Amino acid sequence: MTIAAAVETLVSNIDASAASYLDACVHCGQCAEACHFFENTGDVRYIPTYKLDLLRRAYKRHKDPLRGVKKLFGLVPAELTEDDLNEWSELIYDSCTLCGRCSIVCPMGIDIAGLVRKTREGMVAANIVPDGLTGAAGRALETGSPLGIKPETFQKIVAEQAEATGIPIELDKPGVDYMVILSAMEVLNFYEVIGALARIFKKAGLTWTMSTKAYEATNVGIQMGDKAIAKTLVSRVVDAAEELGVKYVVSPECGHAYSALNWEGPNLVGRTYKFEVIHIIELLNQLCEQGKITTKGKDSRRLTFHDPCQIVRRGGIVDEPRAILGQIADNFVEMTPSREANICCGGGGGVSSNPNAEELRLRAFGSKKRQLDAVKPDAMVTACGNCRNVLEEAIDEYDMVMPVLSLTELLAEYLDD
Ligand code: SF4
Ligand code: SF4
Repeated sequence: MTIAAAVETLVSNIDASAASYLDACVHCGQCAEACHFFENTGDVRYIPTYKLDLLRRAYKRHKDPLRGVKKLFGLVPAELTEDDLNEWSELIYDSCTLCGRCSIVCPMGIDIAGLVRKTREGMVAANIVPDGLTGAAGRALETGSPLGIKPETFQKIVAEQAEATGIPIELDKPGVDYMVILSAMEVLNFYEVIGALARIFKKAGLTWTMSTKAYEATNVGIQMGDKAIAKTLVSRVVDAAEELGVKYVVSPECGHAYSALNWEGPNLVGRTYKFEVIHIIELLNQLCEQGKITTKGKDSRRLTFHDPCQIVRRGGIVDEPRAILGQIADNFVEMTPSREANICCGGGGGVSSNPNAEELRLRAFGSKKRQLDAVKPDAMVTACGNCRNVLEEAIDEYDMVMPVLSLTELLAEYLDD
């Protein structure tokens, strides 16, 4: 471990906006109420602004413009130690899903989740990253998938879905309009979505493919705070899409993958792409609005929708899933709160890849459980494979009975072909 490297990274990450955020907290406590980790444990270490203390201390000691004067009065904090970094590892990785709910309630407009991300970069410099994340990153670099699904296995899964639907799915096909990427959890656990996509693209008359060089959208580098790994993983998707000459890359039902590719990717690769990024739910809604996807019948179950944090809060995709559900669901009910104020599934931001965090993650599900208990749906729909997996596990753990459905798969069930 290199404390000096961690401090240097933390300090170099504090630009003007981060500095203003670190100075701005008025200790109002509103972010505490917003965080599912604090709400379900009452542990004050899980209050969002407290999670920023490591970065704040590095700032106060090394970058605060008044640090010279403050030093005279003993107001500059001590240098960070190995013990500090080890203690904050749990706060930064295990008890934060980067969901951004605290950021939207902060009256001072502090981007708390963004600052947690910056702190993670310091942890990477000090080599204090949970094993679950470093393992996932290693597998992603080696095989193309954080869950270790090799291209040969991916090809087999696609072939099975093509056979099951009777629709040919051509991989690595140049000159088509759309290249679809999938979340790791979809490839491993929810591969029926591939068949659903095949049916939807056929119905809409769109040309599409998937790449054997870049079939996974999940970016562990972004979750762990390692820019070099993040860049390598984004570059794979960019290179594959540009090699095939597609017009659009379709980001899958995955929360962080959309912001990783759409917002952070161009900064990581240092240029704009030669294609557009569109989220699958945006595309499906467009196709429904254009009449290219038509449906028949409606699901009569009492359905609710879990908004994936990164899609709704950072991606702004709020009305689109509801418009699609309006077309295919007869008995839709909102949870409270929902939309931009939704409550996280508990497993985003790499938390679900981190076995150290499992017990805490399941406790944090208490907030979502209370929402579900209030609404009593027959099934919950979502638009993120990771949320779906995390929700299924927690539902099991709490002895609840409730299917968690993919919106894409649900729409495919009601196509009028
Ligand atoms: S981003 Fe979400 S999980 Fe992290 S501190 Fe804020 S509310 Fe809690
Ligand atoms: S809501 Fe904002 S100002 Fe209030 S305690 Fe949290 S970070 Fe500080």
